[in-house]
Amino acid sequence: MRVDIVSIFPEYLAPLDLSLIGKARANGTLRLAVHDLRTWTHDVHRTVDDTPYGGGPGMVMRPEPWGEALDSLAPAEVPPPHLVVPAPTGVPFTQALAHELAAAPHLLFACGRYEGIDQRVLDHAATRMPVTEVSLGDYVLFGGEVAVLVILEAVTRLLPGVLGNAGSLEDESHAHGLLEAPMYTKPATWRGLDVPEVLRSGDHGRIARWRRDAALTRTALRRPDLLAALDLGTLDKRDMVA
Ligand code: SAM
Repeated sequence: MRVDIVSIFPEYLAPLDLSLIGKARANGTLRLAVHDLRTWTHDVHRTVDDTPYGGGPGMVMRPEPWGEALDSLAPAEVPPPHLVVPAPTGVPFTQALAHELAAAPHLLFACGRYEGIDQRVLDHAATRMPVTEVSLGDYVLFGGEVAVLVILEAVTRLLPGVLGNAGSLEDESHAHGLLEAPMYTKPATWRGLDVPEVLRSGDHGRIARWRRDAALTRTALRRPDLLAALDLGTLDKRDMVA
């Protein structure tokens, strides 16, 4: 997968050299480049923002450098990249959207700052490429860089070969609309707390049943919205609905 990220703070994306994303870059699974938006400015101050039309506080990112950046990074490409713009006004980021983005051959991220990017940049881009504004949640960050780190973590771990054990993706939270059951490792007793007996039994049938029930219970208690949205066809008759 090819990934381009445009930001006025390229240093913010330095963690993309680390851990499994760094490894995916090193082995070519991810061809990732971070670009400084100011590369596409032409004045001595390398200006990227200006006051908002209509008045009000703050500054808005000017369209010209963004237009040139997108022209340069998506030059009449077939298929065009999928432009992802982090924004608190966007669609909520979910595992389903991570899967959709993981299937794209080329992602292009535009990191907003200040009061955001002039709307015409997105409207113009939408005439030649898919554009998705994505929100991490109902709160406001300083800029889109942290959102890109989050989105890329979720997307990269879905790419074939990135996780050492692809089975990790099978039963984890949000894979099938449920939260994952609690996990334990050695020692069997720690500070007077025991690992549930069933997990030490070696009985794979009982363990699978326990994990399924624990996942359903945890989801019911913490995220009843997920349980309510669950496809009933995915339940079996032994499922305990709390
Ligand atoms: N004026 C904007 C509004 O009220 O919707 C907020 C702009 S915010 C200060 C600056 C940038 O941070 C946004 O352009 C976006 O890139 C990023 N950002 C802020 N909150 C975000 C969120 N919840 N999800 C994704 N990106 C966010």
